[in-house]
Amino acid sequence: MLKTLHINKYFGEDHVLKDINFEMDAGEIVVIVGPSGSGKSTFLRTMNVLERPTSGDILFMDESILYKKINEKKVHKKGKELTPTRTEIGMVFQSFNLFPHKTVLQNVVEGPLFVRKYEKEQATKEGESLLEKVGLLEKKNQYPDALSGGQQQRVAIARALAMNPKLMLFDEPTSALDPELIGEVLNVIKKLAKEGMTMVIVTHEMNFARNLADRIIFMDQGKIVRNASPKEFFNSTENKRINQFLANID
Ligand code: ADP
Ligand code: MG
Repeated sequence: MLKTLHINKYFGEDHVLKDINFEMDAGEIVVIVGPSGSGKSTFLRTMNVLERPTSGDILFMDESILYKKINEKKVHKKGKELTPTRTEIGMVFQSFNLFPHKTVLQNVVEGPLFVRKYEKEQATKEGESLLEKVGLLEKKNQYPDALSGGQQQRVAIARALAMNPKLMLFDEPTSALDPELIGEVLNVIKKLAKEGMTMVIVTHEMNFARNLADRIIFMDQGKIVRNASPKEFFNSTENKRINQFLANID
């Protein structure tokens, strides 16, 4: 479903992603872990072109999300040409990013109405059903600031799902939450996993990763240093950086 080919990213002199080669199948759940500053967010953001890699390519369903060909020449896709990718690849951020002046339901139907050009009635019906799925239908007419962080993040997930994505990216979806609110967000992600959603999740929740991931990727200093099943990942102890990381988290 997704393949990155020799991705490199520089911010000025700073080499933030170093020759990243990564592949995932439809239906897979990949968890990315690693120390702060290792390039996890940047990597995730390249996957739906919020960030353009300095070199390399990314294929989604066998098609480049970065380039199109004109007369055999590779040309950057720009602006509206990126919309199909951003529709098919949904993203949820650490900081919920809801529109504060729109109600919960308005937040969820925004994309379907204005990007997918749905009729209001259909968008509303689907939006309500997504809010029901994340357990927040009764909050549909509230504004985000009347909701807890966990509830806001569940709305953000419903909003991403409203675009009917084939792949969902989560960047530390529970890091901004009080401990008692983390579970409700993880449960929504677990529900999506059960339904077969393909997902890439950056998280420090190691129990969650252990139970849910098909694969765990460990990033350090811009590189993928380990790509293993949870069983292999937690059983092997030969990598000093991974041990150090796990010791600091638990
Ligand atoms: P992580 O998510 O693993 O904490 P990031 O991908 O956010 O790591 O950051 C990787 C490195 O890239 C860090 O050194 C960070 O300072 C740098 N970086 C990230 N975004 C930018 C940016 N927009 N401009 C300059 N440097 C950036
Ligand atoms: Mg990050």
